[in-house]
Amino acid sequence: MTLRTQVCIAGGGPAGVLLGLLLARERVDVVVLEKHDDFFRDFRGDTVHPSTLNLIDDLGLRSAFDTIAHKPLPKLDAVVNGVRVHAIDFTSLPKPNRFLTLMPQWDLLDMLAEAGRQHPSFHLIMGAEVTGVRRDADGRVSGVHARTAEGDLGVEASLTVAADGRDSTVREALGMQPRDYGVPADVAWFRLPEPPTPLPDTLAWISEETMLVTFPRPGYLQSGMLIPKGSFDALRAEGIDAFRARIARAVPRLAAQAAELGSFENVKLLSVQINRLDRWHTPGALLIGDAAHAMSPAFGVGINYAVQDAVAAARLLAPALRSGAESVIDRAATAVQGRRERPTAMMQRIQRAVHARIATGRGVKILDDPPTRRQRIAMRLALPLLRPLAARIVGYGFRPERLR
Ligand SMILES: Cc1cc2nc3c(=O)[nH]c(=O)nc-3n(C[C@H](O)[C@H](O)[C@H](O)COP(=O)(O)OP(=O)(O)OC[C@H]3O[C@@H](n4cnc5c(N)ncnc54)[C@H](O)[C@@H]3O)c2cc1C
Repeated sequence: MTLRTQVCIAGGGPAGVLLGLLLARERVDVVVLEKHDDFFRDFRGDTVHPSTLNLIDDLGLRSAFDTIAHKPLPKLDAVVNGVRVHAIDFTSLPKPNRFLTLMPQWDLLDMLAEAGRQHPSFHLIMGAEVTGVRRDADGRVSGVHARTAEGDLGVEASLTVAADGRDSTVREALGMQPRDYGVPADVAWFRLPEPPTPLPDTLAWISEETMLVTFPRPGYLQSGMLIPKGSFDALRAEGIDAFRARIARAVPRLAAQAAELGSFENVKLLSVQINRLDRWHTPGALLIGDAAHAMSPAFGVGINYAVQDAVAAARLLAPALRSGAESVIDRAATAVQGRRERPTAMMQRIQRAVHARIATGRGVKILDDPPTRRQRIAMRLALPLLRPLAARIVGYGFRPERLR
């Protein structure tokens, strides 16, 4: 079977579903193909940043959003070598969204998909895996081939958008390769039971041995330990007892919860990547989100950057798609990269600096416990300046997008 549409989006992650919704609101016909049958998958980040919350308000989805369980974090601390540092204060941002919130990604995607379904030109096909691209006689990309449980599916489109994530099939089919910026760390993800006394909201626990992050989820803590790149097998070889002890040393208050971590079957590896394409488009196709630029989990900005790409893309593409002219559509796709490349590169530069100095996977010593007089003075002078700046950079990213 072959479908004909204006825009075919490969991938129903944050970038793909949101772009589909935004284009459908502009009465553009759009087909989103998602290879999984539902959005309920492994942990892939929970952070909904203030700029994404602003967008949810702009879309009129706030009341739907508020019916879903989420955990607002107005401030975030870091525990650095045993010393609690008030690192980020979102309450310095303009109202009303002066916090970051944690919501399971599948809930956010379900909400966006449901909003999309209210528009007749939005077609989300679950269980449809894109396997390659179609090209017209001139070599221009003209859609995709996909596989479904019912058989092969072809989609013909004026524009194909690759939003199929960091291992993008479309990108590979187009022969595009991102430039890799090399990160020294990977992350081992696991769940810990919620401690009886909740932990203060903490971005990271940095010690001389390792770095741990803990995201509160209903009933448990989604936790990640930074480890040196490529060392997951060695970590497994040391055994689960050694891993539990490592967690307990990083956050002594979680020693009892670490003891409940059953086995390495419950620990998943995230290979951390920072990469970016030199060119995000080719005639008939555009790449956005992780397909164009994988972000490190540092500051949890990957979802937000995918969302911002989608907003910029919808705004620039909708008028071009209405015109229907291929050259106008391709120019608009080029403009999306022009708009989003610099903010992405700036954030990736910060992430690389963080990985070079702090999130190395090996643990660092930044402060003495208690801090020396010199360290106390430096913190007293620097933190009041850094806190609001960090709130802006983490909360909005560079060049945040609004609908109009
Ligand atoms: C373990 C982990 C933890 C993370 N933690 C955070 C965090 O805390 N905060 C944060 O902001 N970011 C986090 N990230 C990164 C974040 O998930 C991504 O940056 C963000 O989801 C990118 O959105 P996207 O829509 O571009 O791609 P993705 O979210 O990767 O979505 C791509 C979609 O395309 C689908 N797909 C893939 N191939 C095909 C195909 N061939 N055909 C059809 N569909 C396809 C996938 O199933 C997926 O649904 C984390 C990532 C991982 C893996």
